[in-house]
Amino acid sequence: MTPETRDLPADSPGRAHRLTCLRYGSPGARPKVYLQAGLHADEMPGVLTLQHLAGLLDAAEAAGQVTGEILLVPLANPIGFAQWVQHKPQGRQDLESMQNFNRGYPDLAPRAGDALEGRLTGDADQNAALVRAALTEALAAERATTEVQALRLALMGWSHDADHVLDIHCDHHAVLHLYASPARPEVTDLLCRATGSALALVQEVSGGNAFDEAHTAPWAALRRRFPDHPLTSGPFSTTLELRGQFDVDDATAAGDAANLMVFLTAIGALAGQAAPAHGPGLHYPLGGALECFAPQGGVVSWQAAPGDMVAEGQVLGHVTHPMTRRRLPVTAPCAGLLFRLELWRSCLAGQGLAHVAGPEPGRDGHLLSD
Ligand SMILES: [Zn+2]
Repeated sequence: MTPETRDLPADSPGRAHRLTCLRYGSPGARPKVYLQAGLHADEMPGVLTLQHLAGLLDAAEAAGQVTGEILLVPLANPIGFAQWVQHKPQGRQDLESMQNFNRGYPDLAPRAGDALEGRLTGDADQNAALVRAALTEALAAERATTEVQALRLALMGWSHDADHVLDIHCDHHAVLHLYASPARPEVTDLLCRATGSALALVQEVSGGNAFDEAHTAPWAALRRRFPDHPLTSGPFSTTLELRGQFDVDDATAAGDAANLMVFLTAIGALAGQAAPAHGPGLHYPLGGALECFAPQGGVVSWQAAPGDMVAEGQVLGHVTHPMTRRRLPVTAPCAGLLFRLELWRSCLAGQGLAHVAGPEPGRDGHLLSD
């Protein structure tokens, strides 16, 4: 393993943050796999899991079993990790700009597409290499004026030409689930079966330029721009949600790391035979994940739990007004899998409280939360 560090330019005099990437295997070997955790820096399940995974990869490398190249960024967001306000971690948004750390990644397609005009061939693999090189050049042309922008570019500098990109997050209270583009459904299925993911939320473009999509959306855009030239489906990229924010313990993380080793073996980044231990997850459109909202402010009590299959209109819990004692139900907006609940047990009227994923897309436009 070769560690590599990258210093971010300091916005504030005297304060600087450093990124670390652990590199396994031979530079340039394929498949190239990139894993990071803690981009939302208050989400620790993935950070602990990558600690366990690093130990397993150390052993695999010592045994000569790393056949691809594996890059592991154990804490993708040291800026957010340092943000605490009133004794609570605030790792989701940059406190200066209130920008979500997982939005606003550069769209490399326009510049890469311009560079590819007249250069694509009739060979899909050759075109894939040309596209990868054009994306590298487009990324190199991006300029950062803030530390957060520099963070985005530094992470993509390691990840942008990978064959598989796993950005590991977690939800509030949730079952293991993931977000992916429709580009590589066989890998989506494999990752579900390797990790035990109950649900894959699939969408080509969700809005907001999240990290995972910054790797797949340009390939889709370039396929649309150059319809007369064959092009491979490009990389697999996902946001893997390792359950909820408090699902952080060594036994769970060790199990998740072992499951990721199964995935890495199945895609050929590690030698050996892999046997995913889980059944297939549900594959639903992201637009089919509908939110329930608080009917009033008050205290939230749930009678359903993440992982429950629910019927449309089913009572999932209640919000009780503590002064009037009025108790109103929270009902399922569609039939499907209740896959997440909000962290807090108090709410204001109109706030989102939970999501149910169903098979029919019920919304479009910007599909991700802020
Ligand atoms: Zn997150």
